[in-house]
Amino acid sequence: MYDPDNIFAKILRGEIPCIKVYEDADAIAFMDIMPQSDGHLLVVPREPAAEIFELSDEAAQAAICVTKKLAIAVRKAFAPDGLTITQFNGAAAGQTVPHVHFHIVPRYADRPLRGHARDKQDVDLLKQHAERIIAALNEQQ
Ligand code: 5GP
Repeated sequence: MYDPDNIFAKILRGEIPCIKVYEDADAIAFMDIMPQSDGHLLVVPREPAAEIFELSDEAAQAAICVTKKLAIAVRKAFAPDGLTITQFNGAAAGQTVPHVHFHIVPRYADRPLRGHARDKQDVDLLKQHAERIIAALNEQQ
Protein backbone atom coordinates (compact mmCIF):
# COMPACT_ATOMS: atom_id res chain seq x y z
CA MET A 1 0.00 0.00 0.00
CA TYR A 2 1.48 3.38 -1.02
CA ASP A 3 1.55 6.02 1.73
CA PRO A 4 1.04 9.43 0.06
CA ASP A 5 2.41 11.14 3.17
CA ASN A 6 5.89 9.61 2.97
CA ILE A 7 8.72 12.16 2.98
CA PHE A 8 9.59 11.80 -0.72
CA ALA A 9 5.94 12.23 -1.75
CA LYS A 10 5.97 15.49 0.22
CA ILE A 11 9.19 16.57 -1.52
CA LEU A 12 7.67 15.69 -4.92
CA ARG A 13 4.63 17.83 -4.10
CA GLY A 14 6.88 20.71 -2.98
CA GLU A 15 5.53 20.56 0.57
CA ILE A 16 8.99 20.20 2.10
CA PRO A 17 12.28 21.43 0.67
CA CYS A 18 15.13 19.50 -0.87
CA ILE A 19 18.47 20.38 -2.43
CA LYS A 20 17.54 19.60 -5.99
CA VAL A 21 20.05 18.90 -8.75
CA TYR A 22 17.77 17.71 -11.56
CA GLU A 23 14.14 17.17 -12.53
CA ASP A 24 12.16 16.20 -15.59
CA ALA A 25 8.67 14.87 -16.31
CA ASP A 26 9.49 11.44 -14.85
CA ALA A 27 11.87 11.92 -11.93
CA ILE A 28 13.57 14.30 -9.55
CA ALA A 29 17.08 14.05 -8.08
CA PHE A 30 18.26 15.68 -4.87
CA MET A 31 21.02 15.41 -2.30
CA ASP A 32 20.61 12.78 0.41
CA ILE A 33 20.30 14.74 3.63
CA MET A 34 22.28 12.05 5.51
CA PRO A 35 24.85 11.14 2.86
CA GLN A 36 26.94 8.02 3.17
CA SER A 37 29.69 9.77 1.22
CA ASP A 38 30.22 13.21 -0.31
CA GLY A 39 28.04 13.50 -3.42
CA HIS A 40 25.40 10.93 -2.33
CA LEU A 41 22.38 11.63 -4.52
CA LEU A 42 18.84 10.22 -4.68
CA VAL A 43 16.82 9.71 -7.88
CA VAL A 44 13.09 9.54 -7.18
CA PRO A 45 10.52 8.61 -9.86
CA ARG A 46 7.43 10.82 -9.75
CA GLU A 47 5.13 7.83 -10.08
CA PRO A 48 3.68 6.86 -6.67
CA ALA A 49 5.18 3.42 -5.96
CA ALA A 50 6.56 2.20 -2.65
CA GLU A 51 8.81 -0.49 -4.12
CA ILE A 52 10.16 -1.34 -7.56
CA PHE A 53 7.56 -4.10 -8.01
CA GLU A 54 4.75 -1.55 -8.36
CA LEU A 55 6.64 0.82 -10.67
CA SER A 56 5.48 0.81 -14.30
CA ASP A 57 8.00 -0.28 -16.93
CA GLU A 58 7.91 3.21 -18.41
CA ALA A 59 8.72 4.88 -15.09
CA ALA A 60 11.43 2.29 -14.34
CA GLN A 61 13.07 2.86 -17.71
CA ALA A 62 12.96 6.63 -17.27
CA ALA A 63 14.34 6.39 -13.73
CA ILE A 64 17.31 4.25 -14.73
CA CYS A 65 18.13 6.63 -17.60
CA VAL A 66 18.04 9.59 -15.18
CA THR A 67 20.13 7.59 -12.70
CA LYS A 68 22.74 6.86 -15.36
CA LYS A 69 22.86 10.51 -16.47
CA LEU A 70 23.32 11.69 -12.89
CA ALA A 71 25.86 8.99 -12.04
CA ILE A 72 27.97 10.30 -14.93
CA ALA A 73 27.63 13.85 -13.55
CA VAL A 74 28.52 12.73 -9.99
CA ARG A 75 31.56 10.87 -11.29
CA LYS A 76 32.67 13.97 -13.19
CA ALA A 77 32.04 16.27 -10.20
CA PHE A 78 33.73 14.16 -7.50
CA ALA A 79 36.13 11.88 -9.42
CA PRO A 80 35.56 9.03 -6.92
CA ASP A 81 37.48 5.76 -7.10
CA GLY A 82 34.19 3.96 -7.71
CA LEU A 83 30.44 4.53 -7.59
CA THR A 84 27.65 2.38 -6.15
CA ILE A 85 24.03 2.50 -7.36
CA THR A 86 21.54 0.88 -4.96
CA GLN A 87 17.79 0.49 -4.60
CA PHE A 88 16.18 -1.09 -1.51
CA ASN A 89 12.74 -2.76 -1.29
CA GLY A 90 11.20 -3.25 2.14
CA ALA A 91 12.43 -2.56 5.64
CA ALA A 92 14.16 -5.93 5.76
CA ALA A 93 16.26 -4.82 2.78
CA GLY A 94 17.16 -1.53 4.48
CA GLN A 95 14.50 0.72 2.90
CA THR A 96 13.57 3.57 5.25
CA VAL A 97 11.46 5.78 2.93
CA PRO A 98 8.53 3.93 1.27
CA HIS A 99 8.72 5.61 -2.15
CA VAL A 100 10.91 3.85 -4.69
CA HIS A 101 14.28 5.56 -5.28
CA PHE A 102 17.84 4.95 -6.44
CA HIS A 103 20.95 5.88 -4.47
CA ILE A 104 24.03 7.17 -6.29
CA VAL A 105 26.93 6.83 -3.86
CA PRO A 106 30.48 7.85 -4.78
CA ARG A 107 33.08 5.52 -3.24
CA TYR A 108 36.52 6.56 -2.08
CA ALA A 109 39.21 3.94 -1.50
CA ASP A 110 40.61 5.75 1.53
CA ARG A 111 37.25 6.49 3.23
CA PRO A 112 34.71 4.03 4.65
CA LEU A 113 31.03 4.70 3.97
CA ARG A 114 29.15 6.61 6.67
CA GLY A 115 26.10 4.95 8.23
CA HIS A 116 22.88 4.60 6.24
CA ALA A 117 20.37 7.39 7.03
CA ARG A 118 22.30 8.23 10.20
CA ASP A 119 23.96 11.68 10.36
CA LYS A 120 22.60 14.88 8.83
CA GLN A 121 25.19 16.82 6.87
CA ASP A 122 25.65 20.57 6.96
CA VAL A 123 23.17 22.14 4.51
CA ASP A 124 25.68 24.62 3.08
CA LEU A 125 28.07 21.77 2.31
CA LEU A 126 25.25 19.81 0.64
CA LYS A 127 24.44 22.88 -1.48
CA GLN A 128 28.09 23.15 -2.53
CA HIS A 129 28.05 19.49 -3.53
CA ALA A 130 24.81 20.01 -5.47
CA GLU A 131 26.37 22.93 -7.35
CA ARG A 132 29.29 20.75 -8.40
CA ILE A 133 26.92 18.11 -9.76
CA ILE A 134 24.77 20.71 -11.55
CA ALA A 135 27.89 22.19 -13.17
CA ALA A 136 28.93 18.73 -14.37
CA LEU A 137 25.40 18.13 -15.71
CA ASN A 138 25.46 21.41 -17.61
CA GLU A 139 28.77 20.42 -19.22
CA GLN A 140 27.17 17.10 -20.29
CA GLN A 141 24.34 18.80 -22.18
P1 5GP B 1 16.24 4.14 1.89
O1 5GP B 1 16.70 3.74 3.25
O2 5GP B 1 14.74 4.23 1.87
O3 5GP B 1 16.81 3.34 0.77
O4 5GP B 1 16.82 5.60 1.65
C1 5GP B 1 16.23 6.74 2.11
C2 5GP B 1 17.29 7.81 2.08
O5 5GP B 1 16.64 9.05 2.23
C3 5GP B 1 18.32 7.70 3.19
O6 5GP B 1 19.61 7.58 2.64
C4 5GP B 1 18.14 8.97 4.01
O7 5GP B 1 19.36 9.51 4.43
C5 5GP B 1 17.43 9.89 3.04
N1 5GP B 1 16.48 10.82 3.64
C6 5GP B 1 15.63 10.58 4.68
N2 5GP B 1 14.88 11.67 4.91
C7 5GP B 1 15.27 12.61 4.01
C8 5GP B 1 14.85 13.95 3.76
O8 5GP B 1 13.98 14.52 4.42
N3 5GP B 1 15.47 14.59 2.75
C9 5GP B 1 16.46 14.03 1.99
N4 5GP B 1 17.01 14.76 1.03
N5 5GP B 1 16.88 12.76 2.20
C10 5GP B 1 16.28 12.07 3.21
